[in-house]
Amino acid sequence: MSNQPEQSSIAGRLAGVHENIRSAAVAAERPEDAAELVAVSKTFPAEVIREALEAGQRVFGENRLQDAEGKWPGLREEYDDVELHMIGSIQTRKAKAIVGLFDVIQTVDREKLARALKKAMDEIGRCPVCYIQVNTGSEPQKGGVEPREADAFIRLCRDEIGLEVVGLMAIPPADQEPAPHFALLKKIAERNGLQKLSMGMSADYELAVRFGATSVRVGSAIFGARTPVAG
Ligand SMILES: *Cc1c(COP(=O)(O)O)cnc(C)c1O
Repeated sequence: MSNQPEQSSIAGRLAGVHENIRSAAVAAERPEDAAELVAVSKTFPAEVIREALEAGQRVFGENRLQDAEGKWPGLREEYDDVELHMIGSIQTRKAKAIVGLFDVIQTVDREKLARALKKAMDEIGRCPVCYIQVNTGSEPQKGGVEPREADAFIRLCRDEIGLEVVGLMAIPPADQEPAPHFALLKKIAERNGLQKLSMGMSADYELAVRFGATSVRVGSAIFGARTPVAG
């Protein structure tokens, strides 16, 4: 079963998570590199992130612009092949800064934001690829489009606004079985011809890989517990 990361180092835990992802993919008869690891480094300082970089990790996720802006421009001077994913909710007025810093935006979930991102891309001349976030559990406090509105919103972003929409992202409700949410996200992606699925976190990334995730977003299993306030 799971290779429970007993290792005390970030490098050791990273290796364990990568191994678990490969095993889950193979168990699901997918290629062993079918799912990539987005290491969620939110709230952790640059010197902690540097340990992951030194261990070879290059794909990272952050959920707050301000937190990311304080760390990544500097780290990128040392590691120029980093791929940075925005995985948190985005204020429309910060669209330009988001487009300037991130390579992948996983949380596009409303028309006003989609249009602001596109405008910023045209202005800066930088085009991060986008995921549409789907609120599979219809939770009022959570970002994402409603599942029944997803098809129309995907078409709007892709065909009318002109974003490069590559996939879907979801965060299942914390108090429910994640499997039906993973299955729903996959179904919506398939009927819209989208290849990428960002789903699965520390507690359920192996299950997500079995359900077709192409990216898993894992934080605490690599970096340890975060302070509660940080979300
Ligand atoms: C924090 C966060 C994660 C990682 O959560 P862990 O449980 O620490 O792995 C994944 N996705 C999103 C959107 C997050 O905000």
